[in-house]
Amino acid sequence: MNIEDFACPVPNLHYERVQMVHGAGGLAMAQLIDHIFLPAFANPDLDLREDATLLSIGAEQIAITTDSFVVDPLFFPGGDIGTLAVNGTVNDLAVRGAKPLYLTAGFILEEGLALEDLKRIVASMSQAARAAGVKWVAGDTKVVPNGKGDKVFINTTGIGSLATGNALSCHNIKPGDALLVSGCLGDHGIAVLAQRPGLQFDTKIESDCASVVNLVQAVQQAIGPDFHACRDATRGGLTAVLNEFAQASGCSLNIEESAIPVRPAVRSACEMLGLDPFSIANEGKIVLAVAQEAAEKALAVLRVQTLGSDAALIGKATTGPAEVILKTAFGTHRILDLPVGEPLPRIC
Ligand code: MG
Repeated sequence: MNIEDFACPVPNLHYERVQMVHGAGGLAMAQLIDHIFLPAFANPDLDLREDATLLSIGAEQIAITTDSFVVDPLFFPGGDIGTLAVNGTVNDLAVRGAKPLYLTAGFILEEGLALEDLKRIVASMSQAARAAGVKWVAGDTKVVPNGKGDKVFINTTGIGSLATGNALSCHNIKPGDALLVSGCLGDHGIAVLAQRPGLQFDTKIESDCASVVNLVQAVQQAIGPDFHACRDATRGGLTAVLNEFAQASGCSLNIEESAIPVRPAVRSACEMLGLDPFSIANEGKIVLAVAQEAAEKALAVLRVQTLGSDAALIGKATTGPAEVILKTAFGTHRILDLPVGEPLPRIC
């Protein structure tokens, strides 16, 4: 009997109705995209499944992305739904190598929402947009009756320019590439979780919610075309990004558990709650694939920035099969599969 015969089967995901897990950035959401959305909307641009799509308008190349935010609670240590709505969209442009320029905002408000809360959220959005250097260019507001929504949902669309950098794509990853992360993982997920009624626990962990534009641009300027791919590790965390990298590139990704930075407080919270810190959402962390000979230079430019001070080399890409293999702290190896879904619903 082969060791493969002992592998766990893929979870059975036959649902008649939408479940919370369909919004959680893992296998269930991928099924929704594969079986419902892509058959209706597919085209060569969307089929690339990148964080932002590159479009040519005349001689200009632009990047576009859209994202919706339903985080619960609205306010949490280190940020709120407003900072998420700006940084989440700006970051999806940045990780394609684009300079974010414009944002739109759509609000779905529940009757009864305190206007003070809305003011606070809008102020956060304004401040985050200023910090990221983006301008608001369109907006929309809808109100639903009390009980038919949950306080506020926000959708943001972002447009960026590729005039200055070379495009990054997870299809560019090659065997031999070094894999880096820009800092400690799991902060956002644990910071939000610690605020949930029934689960509240004391922690000093704050969300890492921030724009990664400067981090990406610094690496682009330092190593140019040796910077192959980048993604922000949001829902599904590092595990989801690495699986997307493996699927897109066909490479096998070999990761060292002991090299992956996780704060002790996040590690303790994960142990207590039975969560895997590598599958928890981040909102200001990137995973990078760079040519091996450029890895040290990329690490150095990340580490001089506050947001990248804990950056680390965590592994490398080799020739397929397309899977993620984690070398554990005990020296054993296990496959890091795409989780069914981020274990924490409404995390962003
Ligand atoms: Mg993303």
